[in-house]
Amino acid sequence: MELWYTEQHTPFVGFSIKVERQLYSEKSKFQRIDIFESKEFGRFLTLDGLMMVTQKDEFIYHDMIVHVAMATNPSVKNVLVIGAGDGGTVRELTRYNTISNIDMVEIDEQVVNVCKRYLPQTACGFDDKRVNLYFEDGLKFVRSKCGEYDLIIVDSTDPFGPGEGLFTKEFYGNCHNALKDKGILVNQHESPYYEYNANAMKRAHRGIKSFFPICMVYQAHIPTYPSGHWLFGIASKQLDPIKDANLDAWEKLNLNTKYYNTKLHKGCFALPTYVIDMLKEKAE
Ligand code: SAM
Repeated sequence: MELWYTEQHTPFVGFSIKVERQLYSEKSKFQRIDIFESKEFGRFLTLDGLMMVTQKDEFIYHDMIVHVAMATNPSVKNVLVIGAGDGGTVRELTRYNTISNIDMVEIDEQVVNVCKRYLPQTACGFDDKRVNLYFEDGLKFVRSKCGEYDLIIVDSTDPFGPGEGLFTKEFYGNCHNALKDKGILVNQHESPYYEYNANAMKRAHRGIKSFFPICMVYQAHIPTYPSGHWLFGIASKQLDPIKDANLDAWEKLNLNTKYYNTKLHKGCFALPTYVIDMLKEKAE
């Protein structure tokens, strides 16, 4: 008998990985959490049946959600991370000695505990002294913050269930308030390819653009996400991630990265024409 994990990327398209065994499956207060083991992608975490991270390709997502902003402003000191229960984003941030504080707000403590047990590759930075974990809704957490953070990273699930509020105008407005004058907001920005993800992408872009004068989108190739073509948003009150990037300072940090590099820093903002056009459109 063969066991396969299949995720419906659209009602007519399925993405499947052959599973060697299922290591964990439980319903938390917020979502169903599963961990599988596979030959091709190693262990992987799914939430409500949707792919979150695999051991084989997580480096792409985590490099791109952290290092583009850090090379834009290598002086970042105080960081807020929302979601990110697998720990990969915090792992990358803790590599910067220049960062003095990382607040991480994850709604579901069970995701963190499961990842610590089954995915130590990503969940290895939580014990760093600079990391403060809050188990609450990121939407509520950010409401009371004003001018505190240099960088906010929104590493959330898709815009339904617990992640829905993290794609709203209210949330983006509160992130704007929570940031300092040179503050940067980075978010996972869905994919332009299939209609469902593309609508979420358009909504997110319009929402962020209504608060931030600088609002850009960059891309990466992530094999296990719908269509493999994934986007990230970067927005700021003052810093342009291309013109103001301090790539020499970032190079001097001598960080080893498997996906991100300073040539890619500029290249990842060169979007295909259909994506540029979509970003100008209204979401349905
Ligand atoms: N890399 C992943 C992706 O894009 O597929 C996301 C990884 S991470 C596991 C997403 C986390 O966001 C989940 O652990 C989920 O519990 C958390 N999350 C969802 N909604 C949230 C909210 N409102 N506040 C804080 N965390 C939230």
